Amino acid sequence: MIHWESDYRMLIGGEMAQGEAPPVEVYNPANRRLLAHAPNASRDQLDRAVAAATNSLKTWRRTSMGVRQGALRHMAQVLEDNSTGLARVLTLEQGKPLAAAKWEIQTSVFWLRELAAMSLADEVVEESPDRRVIVTHEPLGVVAAITPWNFPVLLSVWKVAPALLTGNTVLLKPSPFTPLCTLKIGELFREVLPPGVFNVLTGTDRLGGWMTHHAGISKIAFTGSTDTGRQIMSSAATTLKRITLELGGNDAAIVLPDVDPGRVAPMLFWGAFQNTAQFCNAIGRLYVHDDVFDEVLEEFVRYASTIKIGDGLNPDSQLGPLQNEPHFHKIAGFIEDCRRQGYTFALGGEPWQSEGLFAPITIIDRPPDSARVVTEEVFGPVLPILRWSEESDVVNRANSTRYGLGASVWGANLEWVQHIGSQLEAGTVWQNEIHQYSPRQPAAGHKESGVGCENSLHGLREYTNRCTRTLNRVVEIGRSG
Ligand code: NAD
Repeated sequence: MIHWESDYRMLIGGEMAQGEAPPVEVYNPANRRLLAHAPNASRDQLDRAVAAATNSLKTWRRTSMGVRQGALRHMAQVLEDNSTGLARVLTLEQGKPLAAAKWEIQTSVFWLRELAAMSLADEVVEESPDRRVIVTHEPLGVVAAITPWNFPVLLSVWKVAPALLTGNTVLLKPSPFTPLCTLKIGELFREVLPPGVFNVLTGTDRLGGWMTHHAGISKIAFTGSTDTGRQIMSSAATTLKRITLELGGNDAAIVLPDVDPGRVAPMLFWGAFQNTAQFCNAIGRLYVHDDVFDEVLEEFVRYASTIKIGDGLNPDSQLGPLQNEPHFHKIAGFIEDCRRQGYTFALGGEPWQSEGLFAPITIIDRPPDSARVVTEEVFGPVLPILRWSEESDVVNRANSTRYGLGASVWGANLEWVQHIGSQLEAGTVWQNEIHQYSPRQPAAGHKESGVGCENSLHGLREYTNRCTRTLNRVVEIGRSG
């Protein structure tokens, strides 16, 4: 029997555990009230979890692919059976509307099931009467998965599922702002996986730092900010850990002159503001062609004005609050900067008057390209809309960023859409759609948006070492006679 809103404990070596350091307070962003205390792992507890994961690796890595695929399917079923309780906890701690929380859990279930149908085949390099040479994929060892606060469940599954499937054991560490769902997932998967194969540890950022330095951990699978990614890359170097980093973004969307403004505006809106724009792949810069600029802006503002922001537990809410207090102040800083610089607000920007961390949908009409709101990752509901007329100019402006996570192009002329799309420097370029992800589609940030990739067979390979095994069939090596 799961107590969804209390009794939050870690999973270490198959046992539920309290933290040995003072607990971490977790707040509901919709009302700023204390929601729960999460355990705070000590360094000793981390060592114990690594020891348990190392010990269980000996047998887990030798299980067949079929057994591990079966485990993923079982995990999917358990998540699905508990989706109502999990979704409510996700809304309480993260803030997103309950429908969005249910979507996140259900998509995680889908991901687990799809991954359970995938595997890495051995590669036959040579097969002759004389020799056989094959390449196999071997597990790396103990994988630490470190996740952010915007999609705590889905981004965990993106790491845990491929790591387990390829024969690794796992330590999962969520953000200190959203640890609760992950702790409950630990409790649920305790019944599914052998002790030590999957561990959940919570604490502050310092726990993440310990993990990246730990000699017993072979890989860090990380999603979070570019600055933290840089620190992880540097500390992973001391033990030459493998790393996969999914980092920040500032995605451009380019709108061609042949769109119907009324049709495209709602799609662009959700591309920018889904999850209250706390989305690595949110449209961060919207470039609209001169010929349709006024109409698109008008339709965008008209649609945005209909959106209801509120407590995620209220069924009318389409967008929830910002997730945490420091982030709330960061977004307020962006709005304040726009005001000080005298930019034009097409919508929003008014001060907040609420007990929760709510921010208005804010649209800035044609700020200069050098504006902070254009050059930096906002990660919140403040969107600059910019104008373009020359293709080469808009492509240059879209690409002139240190980020390269995603981009999108929108237009009726599919040749033109693809021609522009082919020039964009990003890991995913959506054309006449956005935020379509798949377990079979790689997600890989270019430039400072990441190292390596998640999902697909490319992502699966990142949880393995390649081993070349040769066999000489003809050399005479036995006792003669
Ligand atoms: P963050 O980098 O502050 O924290 C992410 C995780 O790293 C947390 O679990 C945190 O505790 C941990 N951490 C912090 N310092 C650490 C350290 N020194 N060593 C190891 N771990 C450490 O990010 P956030 O504020 O939680 O999330 C927002 C950021 O995540 C945004 O920049 C966003 O673009 C990015 N993000 C990227 C993707 C993607 O797929 N590329 C997806 C979602 C979010």
